[in-house]
Amino acid sequence: MKKVVIVGAGLAGSYLAAHLPADCAVTLVTKKTRGDSNSMLAQGGIAVAVATGDSAAQHADDTLKAGKYHNNAAAVSQLVTTGPVLVKELLAQGMPFDKTSNGELAFGLEGAHSCHRILHAQGDQTGHALTQFVQGMIQNVEWKENTTVVDLLIANGECRGVMLRDAQGQLRPEYADFTVLATGGLGHLYPLTTNDATITGDGIALAQRNGVKLADMAYVQFHPTLLTKNGKCYGLITEAIRGAGAILVDENGTHIMQDFPQKDLAPRDVVTRQLKAWQQKGHQLFLDISAIKDFRKKFPGVSRNLDKHRINFEETALIPIKPGAHFCMGGIKTDLNAQTSLKRLFAIGEVACNGVHGANRLASNSLLDCLVSAHKAAATISTSAMKTDQTVAVKTQPAEPKIIPHLPEQTQLLEMAWKSIGVVRTKETLKEFLNWLARFNYQNLRPEQLSAQELSIANLCVCAELIANSALAQPRSLGANYIEGE
Ligand SMILES: Cc1cc2nc3c(=O)[nH]c(=O)nc-3n(C[C@H](O)[C@H](O)[C@H](O)COP(=O)(O)OP(=O)(O)OC[C@H]3O[C@@H](n4cnc5c(N)ncnc54)[C@H](O)[C@@H]3O)c2cc1C
Repeated sequence: MKKVVIVGAGLAGSYLAAHLPADCAVTLVTKKTRGDSNSMLAQGGIAVAVATGDSAAQHADDTLKAGKYHNNAAAVSQLVTTGPVLVKELLAQGMPFDKTSNGELAFGLEGAHSCHRILHAQGDQTGHALTQFVQGMIQNVEWKENTTVVDLLIANGECRGVMLRDAQGQLRPEYADFTVLATGGLGHLYPLTTNDATITGDGIALAQRNGVKLADMAYVQFHPTLLTKNGKCYGLITEAIRGAGAILVDENGTHIMQDFPQKDLAPRDVVTRQLKAWQQKGHQLFLDISAIKDFRKKFPGVSRNLDKHRINFEETALIPIKPGAHFCMGGIKTDLNAQTSLKRLFAIGEVACNGVHGANRLASNSLLDCLVSAHKAAATISTSAMKTDQTVAVKTQPAEPKIIPHLPEQTQLLEMAWKSIGVVRTKETLKEFLNWLARFNYQNLRPEQLSAQELSIANLCVCAELIANSALAQPRSLGANYIEGE
């Protein structure tokens, strides 16, 4: 029996759990409940080239163009060719993607896609519908909810499982032949983010602490349209709304993206920088939805959220928005089979970087990447001839006196991150930020000695340092890594 530990119950982790063969004993560990992940929040949909007139080659072209050709072309090719096979399989299994009145699949449009190729489910609740559908396929898996992985267990240069803090707060080793990180990105490094509260860069930080290779950390995607009220984010306003005809305006009704060739559907980094520049001139930002008929019917989830936060959108046709952190293109470096630089350790979904997204992710490609990377990990693990033996001695570190953590206040860290490694960066602020981070001892702390709050701040500091160093190391601005003057 192969013992597999999967960390994270978003779409990537859940899809893998549903597709490992019966000779695997699978444990699925997740920080809160199976309902808490970014996957559950995905609104726009899943990009897949299956419509008449569309092709894998066109989807690949759009992905490479958005990624500024920094992508790994082989990973893009794998995404656009394997993706349609997996989506058709899900359809055959009964996944209820939305259809037109003729019973055909309904394809939506999003920024930087050359044609309508985004599948939705329950309107703007695709992530929820898809992740729940996939979780419904999982059988014979031991769920460990409300459980946080704090470190990897390493023996003889191989990953042999994880150290976790269980629901009662106890530290326990969980040994495994294969460990898969599916812990998502790092949105909570920034003060405004679309991400679920559990997404604090944990997988990236624990990989870094154990010398596992990372890649492309400079590239963080900021989404132009976060619903904001009184300086707080109350969720995402999906790009599909701009695909349906909404435009970005200021308090005077000026069309902010008027002078750009793709207007409101320009790549996210372009839109976000323009919005930031507008903000700096002292303007307020809105999404003008007056061109969309039947808004409530087309976007039921967004409408419910707007009602919940008392946004009077039906009367004004305006939704107050601001840009904020959304997605991490970089992460744990993997090959096309999701294998990391550490034997027996895999990474899938957003925490991984196989280069598919390049310097900027094409909208709605990440749910597809979750399926494809998890599919590849399942195939590799199930055919692996590596010895299975959970009794391999893992050296536990001798009990050491607790190192007193010296960490920044979370709000201070987030504000510094937004200023220094946000939408617009400069070489000077990047260097100043690294000097500021160097005052703290997050690199020397032992994760198992920290409280949940301390660990999440330490993990975010690790991610912040990785982003700043990676941004400084790039020879010029590219995609989401925009360095003023470079
Ligand atoms: C609001 C929003 C809308 C989006 N819309 C779209 C869209 O329309 N189309 C698209 O393609 N993409 C979209 N994205 C991006 C996409 O949803 C994510 O990239 C994708 O779902 C990531 O899936 P994942 O399985 O890799 O990680 P996640 O779904 O983020 O899951 C990570 C899991 O790991 C758990 N975890 C984290 N750390 C630990 C730890 N230390 N121990 C144990 N468990 C841990 C988390 O709790 C969570 O369960 C959106 C993202 C957001 C936030």
